[in-house]
Amino acid sequence: MLDGKVAVVTGASAGIGAATAHILASAGARVLLVARRQDRLETLQQEIGDAAQFMALNLSDPSSASALLDHALAAFGKVDILVNNAGILRTSHHDDFDLDELDRMIAVNYSAVVRASILFARHMKAQGVGQIVNVSSIGAGIAAAGTGIYGGLKLALERFTEVLRVELAGSGVRVGLVSPGTTSTEIFEDMKSRGQPGWDEFLPAMQAGDIARAIRFMCEQTGNANAARMHIYATSET
Ligand code: NDP
Repeated sequence: MLDGKVAVVTGASAGIGAATAHILASAGARVLLVARRQDRLETLQQEIGDAAQFMALNLSDPSSASALLDHALAAFGKVDILVNNAGILRTSHHDDFDLDELDRMIAVNYSAVVRASILFARHMKAQGVGQIVNVSSIGAGIAAAGTGIYGGLKLALERFTEVLRVELAGSGVRVGLVSPGTTSTEIFEDMKSRGQPGWDEFLPAMQAGDIARAIRFMCEQTGNANAARMHIYATSET
């Protein structure tokens, strides 16, 4: 279903991104795997095989988005799908929040996604076809103590993404949001390392593959259909 397509997946070294890279490749896409940990990317590239290449990149660097587009075009000649999945979760009540984390969260969870969305959208618009998937969070819609910065940035990302979809209407470029609920991944390691339970311990969480299937569904839309916004929640979440 994605035969001949080229996909760039950020945050591919773990969790939802790794599962997404696998599932897009199994649907026929060639995939560029992006994250910082090169050893993990190498392993994933070997698992997927010739359809995958990787680029070790720190997305908090403002120049990373243009470097990524240049690399993808040099490697594959085009980009059909961009999955902006990389993200970090740092939770703390305002009393304890380490303000040094603020800029890093903005850089990875918001600025990097916006930069890549804009640069890749221009490329896709010129080619007349494309799909951008931005990964938000259930946290964008919930005022839970400790999540003000994470949830606030995801909320801002949602508005940006929806406006980009409107701006690209009729261009052949689809833009969609995937908003996962609690999914068992390493994203909760920071909470656990500080002695807090991760949210995946409170309820039967989803697995990364559950979210990856939704991303594949979004990427497989054809004709006039655009899966603009998908909430994928665990059955026990409301
Ligand atoms: P993981 O912690 O398992 O994976 C995060 C990925 O982001 C890793 O591949 C990591 O790679 C990459 N990453 C982090 N910082 C950077 C950076 N500076 N530069 C490049 N890559 C970076 O998280 P999940 O798979 O759970 O999360 C994926 C997305 O899903 C995130 O956007 C998250 O907000 C969202 N989400 C997750 C939920 C959950 O319950 N798990 C719920 C709702 C939303 P590396 O460290 O190698 O750089």
